[in-house]
Amino acid sequence: MADMFAKPLAAAAIAQLEAALVSDGVTTLIGTVVNPAGLVHAKTIPLRRMGAFADPGLGASPVWHVFAIDQTGIVFGESTGVVGDERIRIDLDGLRILGDGLAWAPGSFFHQDGSPDPYCSRGALSRTQASLSDAGIEALIGHEMEFVLVGLAGEPLPSHLWAQYGLAGVLEYEGFIRDVTDAATASSVAIEQFHPEYGANQFEISLAPLEPVAAADQLILLRSIVSRVARRYGMRASLSPVPFAGSVGSGAHQHFSLSRDQSPLFGGGEGAAGMTTEGASAVAGVLAGLGQAQGVLCGSILSGLRMQPGHWSGAYTCWGTENREAAVRFLPEGPANPRGGHVEVKVIDPSANPYLASAVILGLAHDGIDRALALPEQVTVDPSTLSETQRDKAGISLLTPNQSEAIDTLDRSSLLRAVLGDEVVDAVVAVRRYEHVNYADRSPDELADKFRLAWSV
Ligand code: GLU
Ligand code: MG
Repeated sequence: MADMFAKPLAAAAIAQLEAALVSDGVTTLIGTVVNPAGLVHAKTIPLRRMGAFADPGLGASPVWHVFAIDQTGIVFGESTGVVGDERIRIDLDGLRILGDGLAWAPGSFFHQDGSPDPYCSRGALSRTQASLSDAGIEALIGHEMEFVLVGLAGEPLPSHLWAQYGLAGVLEYEGFIRDVTDAATASSVAIEQFHPEYGANQFEISLAPLEPVAAADQLILLRSIVSRVARRYGMRASLSPVPFAGSVGSGAHQHFSLSRDQSPLFGGGEGAAGMTTEGASAVAGVLAGLGQAQGVLCGSILSGLRMQPGHWSGAYTCWGTENREAAVRFLPEGPANPRGGHVEVKVIDPSANPYLASAVILGLAHDGIDRALALPEQVTVDPSTLSETQRDKAGISLLTPNQSEAIDTLDRSSLLRAVLGDEVVDAVVAVRRYEHVNYADRSPDELADKFRLAWSV
């Protein structure tokens, strides 16, 4: 099995990289990890410590896995307590220069003996990617990043000049858009498009597809880039799924495609919308597991407020070609889709850990292929226009807006436990239950206010 971690760079290669970075003006390196609550954690080092950060890594307490979104909470567990110390190792293949003397690299958790820490989200995605690869299937993932620009304390910014997807938003924020684009290009982050969204001061950036781990790394890098530029303009980027209650939510949709021996599974086939038999089973697997996966894909205390019909968040468990109200939107192959047929999972929001969300999607797709699941009929209309009887007959249900129910379902899911491992599921359940236990009595407005910047960096 391909093991992406088993390749410490030789001292000579580290020295060479360090010299190149010095000549690019880099003095300081940031390494990041993402925890089950979707928080991005970081350590920094002077450049001369780069080799040590890569191997054996820098120490971090296992409680990092269970930090909660309220800036203080820790949900101690048996293996996530005050005793013990893990190692965060940066992956130098993912290193990128940020500018202003900074470089960044994605990190993964290991035990001190060098074995992978089962709580590590990047490790979980790397395992899912490897197990697909062992089955002869390669995956690509393209991330979307939706965010709302707010003031320094999270207050709303004026929106007198704003139309949905409007030029007004581009011109109002042209400096910000240009600087993000330039910084992304300089850091080799492949932006596909960047545009104002439906909500006031809301934007979306789509990223080019990459292999799953690299794609999630790229998303975290993009979050840093966007947030650094926003700071320069005296703003913050809110990554809350519901920045303002009663208003438009922000998603973190993921697009994926699969191929076997370089031959796509979502095009050129005999099945629905041109899918191959395996492609159809992969989509069926994702659909079948969505209810169990909700706690990972959109599990925060705010996520339920977004998971409603009419929000383009995919609240109905069905699929449809170019159907924006379906949990799974299919984009068929054709001249207008130069990257080929692929699948967009709309339910994911930015409170999710993107590594875990990808691991779940790919794990469910793999499960669908393994079990040769049959794909239900696609839905060609807005599912909310169907009668309840029609939806029942077609096996379409509404994902629950009740977060504690979604978390209990995740906790009981042997499928999700098989995909992610018990440690990851237990940690996600712990941090999400904490949110519910401590904040479920708050009104939507209070929740949106309190957590507007919770996932911001
Ligand atoms: N903002 C919507 C969401 O919460 C998505 C809009 C779109 O489809 O781009 O997922
Ligand atoms: Mg969008």
